[in-house]
Amino acid sequence: MSGSRVLLVTGGSRGIGAAVCLAAAREGWRVAVNYASKRQAAEDVVRQISEAGGTAIAVQGDVGSEDGIEAIFSAIDAAFGRLDGLVNNAGIVGPPERIDEISTERLEWMLRVNVTGSIRCAAEAVKRMSTRHGGQGGAIVNLSSAAAVLGAPGQYVDYAATKGAIDSFTIGLAREVASEGVRVNAVRPGIIDTDIHASGGLPDRARDMAPSIPMQRPGTAGEVADAILYLLSDKATYVTGAILNVSGGR
Ligand code: NAP
Repeated sequence: MSGSRVLLVTGGSRGIGAAVCLAAAREGWRVAVNYASKRQAAEDVVRQISEAGGTAIAVQGDVGSEDGIEAIFSAIDAAFGRLDGLVNNAGIVGPPERIDEISTERLEWMLRVNVTGSIRCAAEAVKRMSTRHGGQGGAIVNLSSAAAVLGAPGQYVDYAATKGAIDSFTIGLAREVASEGVRVNAVRPGIIDTDIHASGGLPDRARDMAPSIPMQRPGTAGEVADAILYLLSDKATYVTGAILNVSGGR
């Protein structure tokens, strides 16, 4: 497997990111499983991949800090010496708050992780993948959200705005690097059953929202991973700048 493609999944320790890591390994990618603080969760993903015959490493690094990004890419350079795919998955929400309650600290933190982190990771990936830099090409998939178009009023307009930024960034970067062998796409998940809702103080959100979803149920992390794997794959060689809704019709 030493010549196989290498994928970095930010926030690969849990939820959608973990599902992407497991699915990518099944398809033959070697995987860097990034995490912020839950080392055991990342190591569990690595263990599952290894037990199934794949190759993975756990890589600590906060995408909201320059030191964290440097640590992530240094670890990949040392372990694999190449990079072929990036899933910009790490993302955070805050507890439900109106605009007049959102603190500057919360806003800066959200922008740093969801927007600056994704843009900086993409920049480091482009340096390694773009033919302009001597790379072999590659694919980037960004995690947007249905909130980018719905706006999340009364819950987290700041989070929605960060995902709107991801949509614009996806379109722009796709066009910027299209002639350099790098494809850039995004997925817009709707309500997916992961820990993110509990981390935002609404542990039952996925179940509570089911009646408002046309398909009447939340999605699974695996269903989002399938869409991401398609965008990373050679079945999508003419797809760039696309933003794919994975939202049960929402
Ligand atoms: P999740 O279950 O809360 O998992 C978040 C992951 O991101 C964890 O692996 C976490 O690492 C990592 N992470 C958080 N902050 C980080 C940081 N600063 N640096 C590096 N890693 C960090 O989230 P999820 O629901 O799978 O969501 C994944 C992505 O999909 C996010 O971008 C989210 O906005 C988007 N999305 C989710 C939904 C949904 O309904 N779930 C809907 C639309 C969009 P640790 O394990 O170390 O904490």
